[in-house]
Parts: sequence; C-alpha cells; structure tokens
Amino acid sequence: MNSDFSHKIQQRRTFAIISHPDAGKTTVTEKLLLFGNAIQLAGSVKGKKGPHARSDWMSMERERGISVTSSVMQFPYRNRTVNLLDTPGHEDFSEDTYRVLTAVDSALMVIDGAKGVEDRTIKLMNVCRLRTTPILSFINKLDRDIRDPIEVMDEIEKVLDIQAAPINWPLASGKNFKGVYNLYTDTIHVFTQGQGHTIPDDIQIKGLDTAEAHALLGEYAEEIREEIELVRGATHQFDLEAYLKGELTPVFFGTALGNFGVREMLDGFVEWAPDPQPRATRERQVAPIEEKFSGFVFKIQANMDPKHRDRIAFMRVCSGTYNRGMKVKHVRIGKEIKIADAVTFMAGDRSHVEEAIAGDIIGLHNHGTIQIGDTFTEGELLKFTGIPNFAPELFRRIRLKDPLKLKQLQKGLQQLSEEGSTQVFFPQESNDIIVGAVGVLQFEVVAYRLRDEYKVDAIYENVNITTARWVESDSPREMEHFRRKASTNLARDGSGHLTYLAPTRVNLQLAEERYPDIRFYATREH
Ligand code: GDP
Repeated sequence: MNSDFSHKIQQRRTFAIISHPDAGKTTVTEKLLLFGNAIQLAGSVKGKKGPHARSDWMSMERERGISVTSSVMQFPYRNRTVNLLDTPGHEDFSEDTYRVLTAVDSALMVIDGAKGVEDRTIKLMNVCRLRTTPILSFINKLDRDIRDPIEVMDEIEKVLDIQAAPINWPLASGKNFKGVYNLYTDTIHVFTQGQGHTIPDDIQIKGLDTAEAHALLGEYAEEIREEIELVRGATHQFDLEAYLKGELTPVFFGTALGNFGVREMLDGFVEWAPDPQPRATRERQVAPIEEKFSGFVFKIQANMDPKHRDRIAFMRVCSGTYNRGMKVKHVRIGKEIKIADAVTFMAGDRSHVEEAIAGDIIGLHNHGTIQIGDTFTEGELLKFTGIPNFAPELFRRIRLKDPLKLKQLQKGLQQLSEEGSTQVFFPQESNDIIVGAVGVLQFEVVAYRLRDEYKVDAIYENVNITTARWVESDSPREMEHFRRKASTNLARDGSGHLTYLAPTRVNLQLAEERYPDIRFYATREH
C-alpha cells in the first residue's frame, strides 16, 4: 500500500449538516467556508433567503441552483481536506437528504440554543442512527438568550437518545455572552462582537480562577464557576470511541452569526471525525484504501447551470483514485465509459478534477444513462447497497392537456424518477400515470420541470391512494394468485417493480394478512 495514498485518505473528512430549518445551517456553512478560505467574505453562499413559502421555492432553488457550491463544498483546513455535502432544507425533500447521508462519514448537528431539539432534527437523527453515523453538535445563537444549557444537554440525551459530552461551556448568553470555556484545556475563549465577517482573533484566558477571568466575568464569576463544577460532575466525558460508534455526541457552543465558537468546533471536528469508512456492497465490503477505483451515485441534480441545462450525477468515491479521463465500468448497464470531464467542488468553482480519492465527491455529466444507486468500478462487478426509495405517501394522477405529448411525458417522468425527484407508477388495469412523492413540494418540482424541460402541460388530479408497497414472493404460484386477485391495486414502478397501491391503511393491512406469502416493502433499494 502506498503510504502517501493512505495518508491522503486519512486526511479526508466527508460530512453533512443536519438541523431544523432556521437553526443556522447556512450560516455555519458560510463560516466553515471562511475558515477554509473558500470564500473571502462570509455571506455569499446563497442569495437573499426568501421565506419558506411555496411560491418562492422555484426562484429560490434557481437562485441556489446557479451555484454548484451549494451542493458539495470542498475546502482545506489544517492539513485536512473537508467535503461538506449540503442537504435540502425543506422536509419535503427528506428522501434526498437520506440519500446524501449515505454518502457521508459523519454529521454535524446544529441546534438553536433558544429552541433546543426540534422535530426535524429528531427525524434526521433517526436516519443517522440507522447507519450509526457519528454526530458532533453545535449549539447555536449564544448571542441571544438561550435556554438553560444544562436543560438543552438533557434534552439532547433524552429526546435524541445519545450521550452528550460538552467540550466547551458557554459563559452566559445573550447580551451577557462572554465566551466559552473549554472543559478540557481549562481555557476561556473570549467573545468579541462584530467579527461575523472575518476570521476573529482567538483571545484566550487560561483558567477560570484568574484575575483576568474575574475581570471578564464580573458579577457572574462565582455563578459560572459553580455551574461549571456542576457540569463537570453531571455530564458525560468525551469518549472518542463512543463518538465514532454514534453513542455519544461532543457538544460545542457558539454563535454562527457572530462567527464565534465555530473555529473551536471545526478544530474538534477535523481531529475526531472519522476518515472515509468502508462501504457495503452486495458482494463484499469495500475499503477506501483499495487501489482500484469504485464509487456510487447518491444524487442527481438537474439544471445546476441554467445556461447549460445539464444534469450532474454526484458520486461518492469509495475506494482508489479517480484520474481524469479514466475508463470505468458502469456496472448496471455493463459498459465501460470514459469519464473525461468530472467536476469537483473546490473553492466555489466548478473546475475539472484531475484526481479525486476515496471520500471525495465528483460530479459526472449525466446524459440519461446514470441513475441513483449506480455503481462504477474498474471492472469488478459490485453493487453498493443502502440507497433506498421510500414508499410515497402522496399521489397524483397526471392528465395531459395535449394527448400528443404522451412520449415527452413518459420520457420526462422516466428521467425524473431516475433522478429520485419523484416516483412513477403505471397501474396494471388502466392507462393512468400516477406520480408519488414523500412531500408535496416534490409535485411542484415535477410539474415545473415537465413544463420547463419537456414542454408538457398536465393536470395533476387527486387520486384515491394512501400508500404504496413494493411486493415480492418466493413462491411464483402465490405471486400469480396475488396478481390475479389484487390486480386492480397493482402497478409497475418506474423501473418495472411490481407495487401494491393501497387506497387506505386498513386495506393494506388486510392485504398483508390475506396474502402471507407476499412480502410488502416500504422501502426499495436502488
Ligand atoms: P438554516 O435555515 O438552518 O440554513 O438557517 P440560517 O443559517 O439561514 O439562519 C436562520 C436565521 O438565523 C438567519 O436569519 C440567521 O441570520 C440567523 N442566525 C444564524 N445563526 C445565528 C446566531 O448565531 N445568532 C443569531 N442571533 N442569529 C443567527
């Protein structure tokens, strides 16, 4: 093994931020990029942020879509190479978020200190738990009056069911916010206001019981000392192994807007967060240090650059090295393809990658041959696993305004379903075309894109379907019987898999009871 290569892999950190909307994900991202020298002045990651109103979504997305950097951002920090993957903010795109989380090795959880643990954080945390993704936490907005930090710790432990180990502790909050005290180095990092757009000086005071500390803390000195005594006794100690196993989260406090505490958090992150981890395939585990290249596609994004109208397939490199112009095997279609012009995401520019190694993300131009979940290798027949479709909860029947546009509609839906933007179902007993989604905004995207890219105007009607299940059986006879008996409820999905469309939950339950030899799946692997 080439030791230079394994060293480079050890320096990789690939992660995503999980948070409830408005907790400060975007602001934290900006500051991280500032520390990574990837942007000059924080504040340019995304333009004006509209309210989460529906009508705003398209323009917002377009605005963001122009900048490739909003999807994957690579920046250097203290000899490490950090890959930060963006996750969609709106819960209607939770499926997309899940798939992004399959491509990272750890996550950063941002919590609004005034609000504590909110519901979207709980959901995302559960997703991380499915894969035992290590989580580091940042409690944000300390420049405001936050809740009692001990209570917030408690809430993390109880509601998220993970041990919380504070690394630093806030010295008051809101108007009185003085800084943070590192429980391990016995150092105060002093908060200075108005440094949001620059890399702030790190003003340190060693020790809590010093004249300098007293001068800083003033009337709060005694109270804070007592609180920290209590915290030391009552909270978990940081334990690297427990963190890597997803059982414990190290917690940092700060204010992203004030760019304070972010550096301390980033320092902890690059030190402790896991380097690229092995990934499972149907055949075997793939280790990042294997010489041969392999990777899988976890996301496809359209119209990243409106001028070029291209679609980019995001691939996580799982092993080996990608070199520009190399030939790889597209395992699903069994073909060798040359990747001449993969894009990378360094420093906010869409530049050509000469090289990418395990842990990195590269973007491939997709002309319709790449689907979510596709595996690429240097020849070995592997299939990376764990990239699911979720059973939709919302359904619409599509009716064309112009029936002559059927071909375009089918093509559009085919592509949109391959990209994971929606799911499409073709019932066995009718000519209906049904689209399914996890969140209602997905329909809006589908309608918009069908109109914009495929020139298809359609009407989206409500339809009496509550949920869907992919069905399978080991017994061909039982399957045949089921197909005859339940045919009015059966459909093919976009990739031809048989699916049961249930009008009600009760109906689904009855079907499951009536056909014990049929397996009903709420998720399906790509
Ligand atoms: P996101 O929805 O999680 O991406 O959140 P944003 O980063 O867009 O932040 C939501 C709002 O909170 C914005 O108005 C930010 O300016 C504000 N915000 C973010 N961090 C802080 C902070 O540390 N202190 C204060 N007072 N406001 C913050």
